[in-house]
Amino acid sequence: METLVIGWDAATSRHLSQFDLPFWESLSEKGKLLPEYPFDKAGYISSANAWTTISTGAPFSEHGMLGFVYGPYSGHQLAGSIQYLATQTWLPPLIRRILIGRVMGALGAGTKGEKGDKVNSTNISYKRFWEYTEGDGLIYGLPLTYPIWETNGVVVSGIPAPKFEEASNPVVYPEQLEETVYDGGDAGYYVEKESPVNDPSVSERPYCDQHLQRMEANAEKYVELYEKTSPEREFEVGFLMLRGLDDIMHATEDTSIIRDAYELIDRVTREVVDAVDPETTLVLSDHGMRPASDYRPDKQMRMDHDTTQGVWGATDSFELERHTDVTPAILDRLQIDCEVPKKRDSTDTVTSALENEVIHERLEDLGYA
Ligand SMILES: [Zn+2]
Repeated sequence: METLVIGWDAATSRHLSQFDLPFWESLSEKGKLLPEYPFDKAGYISSANAWTTISTGAPFSEHGMLGFVYGPYSGHQLAGSIQYLATQTWLPPLIRRILIGRVMGALGAGTKGEKGDKVNSTNISYKRFWEYTEGDGLIYGLPLTYPIWETNGVVVSGIPAPKFEEASNPVVYPEQLEETVYDGGDAGYYVEKESPVNDPSVSERPYCDQHLQRMEANAEKYVELYEKTSPEREFEVGFLMLRGLDDIMHATEDTSIIRDAYELIDRVTREVVDAVDPETTLVLSDHGMRPASDYRPDKQMRMDHDTTQGVWGATDSFELERHTDVTPAILDRLQIDCEVPKKRDSTDTVTSALENEVIHERLEDLGYA
């Protein structure tokens, strides 16, 4: 494999220097990774929006994925004024966050909640980074890849895909690999316990431990998939999402839990890199986290997204600054010279009706909806 990208969802710049993380420290090139305007200034971005920009190279104004809980954003005549207000730093963070995350969503992206349509992979009209390559991608857990489509490589759908047992469309491509991924083990992104974000009486440690287990299982599954499929496939680029930090830090501010999470991520990343042995490794986060107490009265969020604390680290120079830089930089590394973003060739994914209700429930599990 030429380039392996590992998503450390919500990995926060100030935490990375605080803990003992030998793999992270071994990366020679590092920097901050920030969202584009207006999300940088407004101080809030959804993982749905961030990972879509990161994986397509298209800005929000083109891809329209505002957040997991809305439909595709199609613009609104007031959008300019809302974005202007949301970027005014004299306004309290809560107000700016509501303007960018809620008001813009309500005006231009449909209804939030159980009945509203949610975004899914068919709403993203741009190629993802591996679809530019001649070889294959081994892509695991990238958000908004459900329903999965026929593509060059092996793809395991990320959130908000339904669980394997409840999905009406394939959650893995090629479909015959579904049972390798979901074999009754811990692979996946949803945990059985209620989040402390939804129910403050739930204790934080057992909930967070389940996310740790999931991350370890996903990393092991990635290696298993690689070993099982690489004899007949030429993997050029890979992606693995370790998203537990996002869920864990929404649910706790306990330093010992947070430390365990970073240390586990660092260790399993090392294990994946050792097994896959890519030429180049890139680790990146979509945003960092900060205490939520001042601006999130609607939920029991302990911490929430911080647009100033996203990071990247790599074995080679990637010179990333913004989310829109990531796909071009990966392609540059793979010596693919073409204009980015590019529309997908076909949007012929045949899908059964999507299970909106189930997706809503899974988002609730993560404290989103
Ligand atoms: Zn995130």
